[in-house]
Amino acid sequence: MSTPDGTADVLLRARGLRVDYFDRAEPVHAVRDVDLTLYRGETLGIVGESGCGKSTLVTALTRLERPPAVTTAGTVHLHGEGPPVDLLKLTERELRALRWERVAIVFQSAMNALNPVHRLGAQFADVLRLHRGLSRDAAWRRAGELLGMVGIPADRVRAYPHELSGGMRQRATIALALACEPDLVVMDEPTTAVDVVMQRQILRQVARLKRELGFSVIFITHDLSLLIEIADRIAVMYAGRVVETGPARQLYADPRHPYTAALRGAFPPLRGPRREITGIPGSPPGLRHPPTGCPFHPRCPKRFDPCDEQVPELLATAGGEVACHLHGGPQEQQHEPRSTNVPG
Ligand code: SF4
Repeated sequence: MSTPDGTADVLLRARGLRVDYFDRAEPVHAVRDVDLTLYRGETLGIVGESGCGKSTLVTALTRLERPPAVTTAGTVHLHGEGPPVDLLKLTERELRALRWERVAIVFQSAMNALNPVHRLGAQFADVLRLHRGLSRDAAWRRAGELLGMVGIPADRVRAYPHELSGGMRQRATIALALACEPDLVVMDEPTTAVDVVMQRQILRQVARLKRELGFSVIFITHDLSLLIEIADRIAVMYAGRVVETGPARQLYADPRHPYTAALRGAFPPLRGPRREITGIPGSPPGLRHPPTGCPFHPRCPKRFDPCDEQVPELLATAGGEVACHLHGGPQEQQHEPRSTNVPG
């Protein structure tokens, strides 16, 4: 997907992104120094347990963060025709012009995205009339076509959200996100509220639509196995940092970071042979007082001497990056693991 100079196919590039919560005297660092690149036509999965900063990261990438969260450092360049624009420098008015048209978002709860007192068609028509200048009749017709694209009969445009099943509502929000043919669709846990069968149906539909329409996807989830179904590359987050990135299948087959390995063990794959599920001991650290050194060290079965003192840097590996003293850095060495601080 990338060109030899690594830039021509870039759609979104974040550098040094930092988000702090200012709800008390001392700021809480919720996202720390995150670098991410998304290529055109690519699906980038972002995975981590609740509280690891993935949703905060996404709201910062899309400028949807609300107080007390504040993006305090970094750049988020959206590439297209002409020079890239730094989303963090745009005014609210400039952002409004860009939302739906270039960047659309699908949230976990369809009921938050859909207005319960308006028919589906009216909600699609609002977006299409404002951003595409369609007449009322043309907008309602287009709404029916968009619903058809996600497998919902076109005549359901007249339905209210509560008249649809949960799966249909979520598919309707995906159709709504695609209304203006954006370059990027950000999906924040879009299948968490539906059952496994519907989950797979939605993933298949998103993959097909992406192939047909050519948009890129950032897909947030806590379930690493889900990303194998849909992502080209994966970024794993822990305690507000990216701790591993890599091509999806490679990262799943051969996780380098012990946290990635633990996530893999915690969720059964949707396909393939049955595997024993192993939980991750303990819980993610509070961001107000994160552990010293590697933030995963209190839970890590492979921790060794430098882990509780030195923060590992994110370093390049074959095909990706990893932030762990076991890999790549001067600390790489044979070692005896020490026991974890939490019961298994
Ligand atoms: Fe485990 Fe140490 Fe690697 Fe952290 S740096 S993940 S504690 S081995």
